[in-house]
Amino acid sequence: MRCQTLNEFGGDVVAEERADMTVTGTEVLLKVTANGVCHSDLHIREGSYNLGAGKTLSFADRGMKLPLVMGHEPAGMVVETGPESVELDSTKNFVIFPWQGCMECHQCESGLENYCSAPRYTGLQVDGGYADYIKVPHARYLFDIGDMEPSIAAPLACSGLTTYSALKKVEDTLTKAPVVILGVGGLGLMCVGLVKAMGGLPPVVVDIDPAKREAALKAGASAAIDGLADDAVAQVQAAVGGPALAVIDLVGAESTATLGFDVVGKGCKLVIVGLFGGASPWALPLIPVKAITIMGSYAGSLGEFAELIDLARKGLVPALPTKTYPLEAVNGILNDLEAGKVIGRAVLTP
Ligand SMILES: [Zn+2]
Ligand SMILES: [Zn+2]
Repeated sequence: MRCQTLNEFGGDVVAEERADMTVTGTEVLLKVTANGVCHSDLHIREGSYNLGAGKTLSFADRGMKLPLVMGHEPAGMVVETGPESVELDSTKNFVIFPWQGCMECHQCESGLENYCSAPRYTGLQVDGGYADYIKVPHARYLFDIGDMEPSIAAPLACSGLTTYSALKKVEDTLTKAPVVILGVGGLGLMCVGLVKAMGGLPPVVVDIDPAKREAALKAGASAAIDGLADDAVAQVQAAVGGPALAVIDLVGAESTATLGFDVVGKGCKLVIVGLFGGASPWALPLIPVKAITIMGSYAGSLGEFAELIDLARKGLVPALPTKTYPLEAVNGILNDLEAGKVIGRAVLTP
């Protein structure tokens, strides 16, 4: 098999040939047909998150082992099943749920493998989709994509599921007042479309880039506000019709976390999804005074993924603008992503 491996944090990924994989037990081997290149792959390549105040969180210290084949947005066709696996249709494309857990901890037993304490996430702890073949431990992680193109379905595994799971955390507010979305790059546009698919009011978006605000309005946002405006808080609250009932921060920077905190109403929720980095900017007494819930959201559960794929197969999930590339282009894509030069989603088609 051909793959692109990360051998040292901070370095490029390197093309490698490996022996063909064999499957045992319930395992399934797939030929990769598409794998989205996610912004968080930049953090993996770098080997750390910025925690603010000069601190970083090192992946090496947290048990991430190299060499690693990254890629956590994979889709593929089944080529072989282990002796204990169910039979699978080899003519169909499946998208792979990458947020696999140990199946022994409390989180996994509750169906929240994405919050597993000993995770086995595809492309993070185990080899992922920057390869022409991928092995999956069980058929339950495979979802038939129906008529969708693999390059459109693959990004649902991270960018789609991440936004869907964040919205599920504030689902009860979506029909009462517009949800506020901070940051409308690829994830933000997906979020705007998903709000509609979930029956919510058109959202209010915030972004510092005029082109992205324009794109969000075209995608169905009710208002698009410049986060750098002096009166951004007042503008957002005017567009919502009062303090926001729910804010989703897809950036995760100190500036967006501050804005989100300031626009959200008493007793309401600020959901942080983005991993831009920094330190918490909130004054502690204001958290109880506003009685707000500040919550994180990471990927999504297997159950949420099943719901999302169902919506997508019905044509209700907007397709991100995608461009496909050969496997060997991955370093160039990662560099472009870092420089902010990728519009929509870059997808490898090995
Ligand atoms: Zn991702
Ligand atoms: Zn677990």
